Amino acid sequence: MNTQRSIYLDYAATAPLLPEAREAMQPFLEAEFGNPSSVHGHGQRAEAALESARETMARHLNASPREVVFTSGATESDNLALRGAAWAAYRQSGARHILTTPVEHDAVSQTAEQLAALHDFELEYLPVDEYGRVAPADLAARLRPDTALVSVIYANNEIGTLNPIAELAAICRERGLTFHTDAVQAGAHLALDMQTLGVDLLTLGAHKFGGPKGVGILYVREGVEIIATQTGGGHEGGQRAGTPNVAYIVGMAKAFDITQAEIHQSINRLSDWRDKIIERVLDSIPDAKLTGHPRERLANHASFVFKGVDGNALLMLLDAAGFACSSGSACKTGDPEPSEVLNALGFSHEWGLGSLRVTLGQQTTSDEIDAFLNTLPDLVDRCRALEVA
Ligand SMILES: *Cc1c(COP(=O)(O)O)cnc(C)c1O
Repeated sequence: MNTQRSIYLDYAATAPLLPEAREAMQPFLEAEFGNPSSVHGHGQRAEAALESARETMARHLNASPREVVFTSGATESDNLALRGAAWAAYRQSGARHILTTPVEHDAVSQTAEQLAALHDFELEYLPVDEYGRVAPADLAARLRPDTALVSVIYANNEIGTLNPIAELAAICRERGLTFHTDAVQAGAHLALDMQTLGVDLLTLGAHKFGGPKGVGILYVREGVEIIATQTGGGHEGGQRAGTPNVAYIVGMAKAFDITQAEIHQSINRLSDWRDKIIERVLDSIPDAKLTGHPRERLANHASFVFKGVDGNALLMLLDAAGFACSSGSACKTGDPEPSEVLNALGFSHEWGLGSLRVTLGQQTTSDEIDAFLNTLPDLVDRCRALEVA
């Protein structure tokens, strides 16, 4: 493990806490410790901070503050969306059919699988193309009167591909079916307007956009029913029980405010660098392929497979050379099998094992990218030599 400061190219795993977010949180870790449910002044000040954070999140989402439910992070938001909407649909009409994709984050796919295994829901996977995209016509063809919920990832964490969420959501809306999207990777790299996107449920996690870990939101469109999966007090409009983490929520709102206010400049800057990385890697390294869509992808995200390379060995060599990258999903690190996502896209074992994800962010510089591009080809060569030896 490289203990020196390395060049950080793993923003899809997590982003550093923005200093402004840390500063905004500070009072709520100290003097302003009140419980927002309390009647006295301490409680009222905590409550005011909580509601102001809710308004900030809602404003950038073009949503109503009532539609923002605070959670302990994106994993909880995905769990609440799937279980909460599936149970609500079942209670309303007996619906048991869940449609999702083979390229979801585990927080969605494992929850869907548990709903099938323990609660008798019928799970069906939508087909995806070679880039991991769902075609609207394929969704339309698979919807049924007893469909309880559709969940499609917005921006893929492993391969960067964007799904046509507005079109997919519109198809569900026309038929009165609930549509959820995991938009965690989009939080830092796309403008998010709930009116034009048209989704019923949307997941965000703060630490992917410069907020603290352990806090997120589920956007729940007015009128969409979910059943609370964490029960207790009547917090968050009865949709999520538990005293809210005021400090983290305030930090999340500050980070989202800054990130979303700068989103267009950020997209322009990062997508130029992303395209440079993709072009140079494919030009300078033989037997290299881009994974995910060449254009419809996150501005900060470049991902590849290299034939005959052990992806974990490559990550260790990169780390030793001072570059922090990933093979794809942070959760899969250390697993010697190709990821489920790459399998779903049809990559063979020989290609799928050699995956590399390079994700940029707020603090990335042009010099860092040049240093990375000058180092990578040699390290890939060294990995290939290891394979043969
Ligand atoms: C990171 C991530 C999550 C989970 O976030 P946690 O902070 O671990 O709860 C869910 N979905 C996607 C797409 C992610 O990138």
